[in-house]
Amino acid sequence: MAATSLNAPNAPLLQKTHQTHVFLKPISTIPCQTSAKRFSIFCSATTQDRLSVQSQSQDRVFNFAAGPATLPGNVLLKAQSELYNWHGSGMSVMEMSHRGKDFRSIIEKAEADLRSLLNIPENYAVLFLQGGATTQFAAVPLNLCAPGDSVDYLVTGSWGDKAFKEAKKYCNPKVIWSGKSENYVRVPSFDGLELNPNAKYLHICANETIYGVEFKDYPVPRNQNGVLVADMSSNFCSKPVDVTKFGLIYAGAQKNVGPSGVCIVIVRKDLLGNAQEITPVMLDYKIHADNKSLYNTPPCFGIYMCGLVFEDLLKQGGLEEVEKKNQKKAGILYNAIDESKGFYRCPVEKSVRSLMNVPFTLEKSELEAEFLKEAEKEKMVQLKGHRSVGGMRASIYNAMPLAGVEKLVAFMKDFQAKHA
Ligand code: PMP
Repeated sequence: MAATSLNAPNAPLLQKTHQTHVFLKPISTIPCQTSAKRFSIFCSATTQDRLSVQSQSQDRVFNFAAGPATLPGNVLLKAQSELYNWHGSGMSVMEMSHRGKDFRSIIEKAEADLRSLLNIPENYAVLFLQGGATTQFAAVPLNLCAPGDSVDYLVTGSWGDKAFKEAKKYCNPKVIWSGKSENYVRVPSFDGLELNPNAKYLHICANETIYGVEFKDYPVPRNQNGVLVADMSSNFCSKPVDVTKFGLIYAGAQKNVGPSGVCIVIVRKDLLGNAQEITPVMLDYKIHADNKSLYNTPPCFGIYMCGLVFEDLLKQGGLEEVEKKNQKKAGILYNAIDESKGFYRCPVEKSVRSLMNVPFTLEKSELEAEFLKEAEKEKMVQLKGHRSVGGMRASIYNAMPLAGVEKLVAFMKDFQAKHA
């Protein structure tokens, strides 16, 4: 592209990344405040910090979707600035060999940053896999037990239920408690649980995305050699977690840490190597651990995006700080619901309300469509509850700014004043 054409009035924004020029969106869509007609963005952390989106840009909405979900604005901008030419390599991350040194540095940094965030000990492997959390519903029993082995499932929502149903194909799972008859509004007391003393593992879903039920502490398997397994898809990296309480944690990335297409598994190394004979090679954790998640072509760009998110979470001060922000956001939203005198209602028991997914119904359910329509006009989207429960659901993952929740709360109060 000739340099002169870049200076045309409607030319795309010119960006200088190291030695290479790349094209970004037209300047009007870049959320930086400047009076200059065009400017350059340099690919360094400090410039990225300056670029961090302090307020919601004109062309972005507050996206309350349950996943794929909102990502941090500064991470998206950093990815944009590196998209065309990653670190002077002359190519995008999407184009580079997964076995080359550049991609290796990306995946190794992503793993190292995740290890720092969650304080993951050396005796745990970190795997970047594909197939979503749903694939782990099968991979977990295939790797952790033999066909006839007993395992326990504590079911606090429909994801736990799906995991249990999939496990039935590969072992002998038992639902030791289910909240289904109460429409999944609580976590049981651990004292009364009838844990099987022979169960190879106890499976929980740490945060049920649809019903908004979140474990605040964790049960301990009865079998001394049994391990706790958790699906953390929708609260992964939202707060500190003591990884050593678990034999295995898995999480689809598309809620808190990246785009869909990446599923992260953290597994204690002594549990590797016992996969059932029928286990497809792609579901065998040991194969992936031995090959550092590079047995086959991994979801390279997704892993890179997760790495940028991990870096950003560390810059924010780590998961203690992230948790504080999440508590504040969830606190103001639950308060607004509880103080609405029944106009809005959250059915979940207060002690286990999710910091990530806040389901609520309207007393006058006939107003739901209008609520959604009016919210959308105000650029607050994806607030409709899951089709299986109805009502509303505000997913307020790490990347949802406080401003987004404040705007939602102000809108809810306004809507109530108009319709009460
Ligand atoms: N577990 C939980 C808690 C989820 O929220 C989801 C997706 N919403 C899944 C599992 C399934 O994940 P995936 O679509 O990545 O297979």
